[in-house]
Amino acid sequence: MSDEFTDSAGRGPYLSDPAPVDRTASRIDSFTGEYGFLSNFYPVEVRFPDYKSQMTMNYPSVEHGYQAAKTIDPNHRDWVRSAETASEAKRRGQKVTMRSGWNATMRVSVMAGLLRQKFRLEPLRSQLLATGDAELIEGNTWHDQFWGDCRCPQHIGMGGLNWLGELLMKVRRELRSESSAGPRPTQDATSSSGSAT
Ligand SMILES: [Zn+2]
Repeated sequence: MSDEFTDSAGRGPYLSDPAPVDRTASRIDSFTGEYGFLSNFYPVEVRFPDYKSQMTMNYPSVEHGYQAAKTIDPNHRDWVRSAETASEAKRRGQKVTMRSGWNATMRVSVMAGLLRQKFRLEPLRSQLLATGDAELIEGNTWHDQFWGDCRCPQHIGMGGLNWLGELLMKVRRELRSESSAGPRPTQDATSSSGSAT
């Protein structure tokens, strides 16, 4: 029996199955469970330069770093950084004094920088590369049509911009193209490295 007619679980092409086997394999549209590492809530230390002090601050998740980047008020940044969970950081980020120029371009640029940091680290780098060519979509139910694609009755089928998914696929392409560059730093090793971000 040829492997090209079976998926990774060894299932065959059952004609009564409404979903072709390769369709589910080529799309990841929920960053939960085994794909929870794709979520910005996933715990990982990232860094972001403080606007005024020029010191680099550590944040316990991409969400923390992104929400803190919305403001240049050092007290607000600390407040976001000290949030015990990523969801709390997100809530706090909605209450900070927003910096000027926080437009879509800046938001995407900041997010791209944080994601590049996150996925330079093992095992996250390997986990992202292991998604192959799967389309990455941040399916959500909280009406986020900018970073993802909301599936609520009001938004379903409208097609969110899915910037988070797009950036993840971009970072994956970058990692793949540089995969011959040798071993990558681990999470511990990066804290003392001076690599640019
Ligand atoms: Zn919605």
